[in-house]
Amino acid sequence: MQDCIFCKIIEGSIPSKKVLENDDIIAFHDINPAAPVHVLVVPKVHIDSLEALNSRNIDVVVKVHQAILEVAKIMNINSKGYRVIVNCGKDGGQTVPHLHYHVLGGTAMNEKLL
Ligand code: AMP
Ligand code: ZN
Repeated sequence: MQDCIFCKIIEGSIPSKKVLENDDIIAFHDINPAAPVHVLVVPKVHIDSLEALNSRNIDVVVKVHQAILEVAKIMNINSKGYRVIVNCGKDGGQTVPHLHYHVLGGTAMNEKLL
């Protein structure tokens, strides 16, 4: 997808600090971390947002969740815990229109979400 920053990271034309990569996903450190550990898990196929999931592309969600488990282990936050966030659309605060999951950890999160 032209002009999609995450597609460019996936194709390698924009650099990233990679944590994990396989055929289906890439995971890299967020450029503006909101927690000591802040990794983005991104499906390689361009999907605009959660709202663009459908019966043809939803299988990738399983791959993303498998990758989140691996990322949590790699970043050593699996035992203490972590938070996974998906922002969706304008009111959800989504700024990059390519589906991605924030994995946040390395500190105790506030119980309140907002
Ligand atoms: P969202 O607001 O949910 O769309 O999240 C987009 C995230 O992408 C933000 O947390 C940004 O800091 C992050 N981000 C934007 N550009 C880059 C980049 N080139 N490398 C790593 N993270 C990025
Ligand atoms: Zn994209």
